[in-house]
Amino acid sequence: MGMTIKEFVAQEKVALSQEVGSLKRAPHLVIIQANDNPASHAYVRGKIKDCDEVGALATLCLLPPDTSEEYLLEKVAEYNNDPEVDGLIVQLPLPDHISEAKVKLAVNPAKDVDGFHPLTKFIPCTPKGIVDYLTAEGFAFQGKNAVVLGRSEIVGKPMAKLLLSKNCNVTVLHSKTTEEDKAFYIAHADLIVVAIGRLGFLDNRFQYKKDAVIVDVGINRNEEGKLRGDAIPDLPVAIQTPVPGGVGLLTRLALVKNLILAAKTR
Ligand code: NAP
Repeated sequence: MGMTIKEFVAQEKVALSQEVGSLKRAPHLVIIQANDNPASHAYVRGKIKDCDEVGALATLCLLPPDTSEEYLLEKVAEYNNDPEVDGLIVQLPLPDHISEAKVKLAVNPAKDVDGFHPLTKFIPCTPKGIVDYLTAEGFAFQGKNAVVLGRSEIVGKPMAKLLLSKNCNVTVLHSKTTEEDKAFYIAHADLIVVAIGRLGFLDNRFQYKKDAVIVDVGINRNEEGKLRGDAIPDLPVAIQTPVPGGVGLLTRLALVKNLILAAKTR
């Protein structure tokens, strides 16, 4: 595993720009955002920048946080039916008065490049980004003990499913798993994907295989307001992805790949 994630992403983007250049028209992503959350603004800016960099189009449909559910669903239907739009995502979180489940189900599965609809053909971006990176770096999934910490719909569960499809022995741990059991599974893991949103949860109280790989999905702020992961830095393992400059970039890359796939397969 010789490349940093930043280097890997830069290299992949060069290849993706060439792929976009060979298409008849530029893939087009629409992002609907109905919140005024600073983190969401930053994520959306990142997604638009990535599209620009590979030559894809990105349109932001920014709605006020008091938008009604009905109006949001109308916008979704409009873009679902727009032949000029290849990919459609609705930025989370949504305001409390809008049902996330309803919105996820409303997105046309053929344009659902976030991979959230039950009938989607797209792999959700965070798990896809992680597996694409590990694959490119030569990680041999088959028969490896993979531990996924966290079981959310957008990260933990699809991550576990994807690793299972790569023939890993997958164990999913969550908030009801005892500390003793966490220590046992972590000590035997070849791959640990941590996605729980707890600053520095993986630390030196656990034992790790020295050739283990830790993929840190967590995004937390420390007391100085800096972005940090769910693992403390420099754990005694072979590879540990950094935060920032890690899984966030891989997730964004996977979104661009899903968008290109959507444009090519419509
Ligand atoms: P989430 O919906 O809040 O789910 C957290 C999961 O962690 C739950 O399944 C919960 O268990 C489990 N959990 C909480 N405390 C735990 C503990 N002490 N031990 C074991 N499991 C514990 O989170 P999410 O949306 O999956 O996000 C997780 C983290 O990843 C957050 O920091 C988020 O910001 C970050 N994230 C990053 C990216 C990226 O691209 N880098 C993308 C998405 C999310 P229960 O189910 O039992 O409650």
